[in-house]
Amino acid sequence: MQQKPSSAYVHIPFCTQICYYCDFSKVFIKNQPVDTYLVKLMQEVDYYELPALRTLYIGGGTPTALSAEQLDVLLTNLEARLDLSQLQEFTIEANPGDLTAEKIAVLKRSKVNRISLGVQTFNDRHLRQIGRGHNEAQIYDSISGLKEAGFFNISIDLIYALPGQTMMDIEKNVEKALALDIPHLSLYSLILENHTVFMNRQRRGQLHLPNEDTESDMFAYILSELKRQGFDHYEISNFAKPGFESRHNLMYWDNAEYYGIGAGASGYLNGMRYRNRGPIQHYLKAVSEQGHARLHEEYLTKAEQMEEEMFLGLRKKSGISVARFEEKFQLSFNDLYGAIVDQLIAEGLLKNNKQQIQMTQKGLFLGDTVAERFILE
Ligand code: SF4
Repeated sequence: MQQKPSSAYVHIPFCTQICYYCDFSKVFIKNQPVDTYLVKLMQEVDYYELPALRTLYIGGGTPTALSAEQLDVLLTNLEARLDLSQLQEFTIEANPGDLTAEKIAVLKRSKVNRISLGVQTFNDRHLRQIGRGHNEAQIYDSISGLKEAGFFNISIDLIYALPGQTMMDIEKNVEKALALDIPHLSLYSLILENHTVFMNRQRRGQLHLPNEDTESDMFAYILSELKRQGFDHYEISNFAKPGFESRHNLMYWDNAEYYGIGAGASGYLNGMRYRNRGPIQHYLKAVSEQGHARLHEEYLTKAEQMEEEMFLGLRKKSGISVARFEEKFQLSFNDLYGAIVDQLIAEGLLKNNKQQIQMTQKGLFLGDTVAERFILE
């Protein structure tokens, strides 16, 4: 009997504004059946009979788009149902514009011990241009409110290579991010996704994005500044002070299994990757009728599982343990990948350590293009 996963992701698909670059599973909150959604969410939690959890992550959408009462209902009900006696990390995502003192008080009463704040940029003009609902002042209010309530394990998301953004803007952003004195940062370059306002603008030639050289200069600058300030670049897009790496996100990159709960959420159970129904009404109906809302279910072949192991593991600075890989898949790592590893070491993209396969800085910089070389024909 396979061991049950000890991590769960809970999706809150509502937002108080829709950002121009976003293709996540979410809807504008107004007129949505939020209370019913929270009831069905608990039915889905019950259906899976979760074991004691090590990590729990509430994401979105925007969990803090809920009212303080709804947030309280969500957290109280989750905590009543789940065994959190082994819990190491309980993260909730929050948006600066939504995080009122009342909501912070609700979080303080709960077992939440980590906050991930969607800052994106400190520049008010850029915030408006990407369709965010908050401003710079609200970022500081949120951080100080959280710290006053005793939350210090705070992460912020930043996006770089935004339309019209210059190196000087990046320098200011990094300076302001560091001044927050928080232990974790996630950093993403703007990706144009289909069915977003930005993709339409790009097609019409109205989006003026920094070119690729500027984008990689921006990344290099951020990387060196954060390192200088004691942050470890522990994953392609993530930086942490020692001991503050996200345990939940490390679980994804370790290719471990987890429960995914809520409309549009993805999960990984018993070798099956699944995705729940996204549209709210479809989700509510499915949970009422069958207890879960899984729509796409895919059992991975061993070859696919190994590909994912490589792809995800190489994102981490710590890389992939050859011994762990061989134990998990009962195959010789060297037979499978020895030639590719030698080639990538020669190109300066992997480190010369045959027991722990790790990217060099140059490799981390190129990210997925290196990982793709491990796809077996
Ligand atoms: S980026 Fe976040 S807040 Fe903005 S629309 Fe997407 S899920 Fe909502």
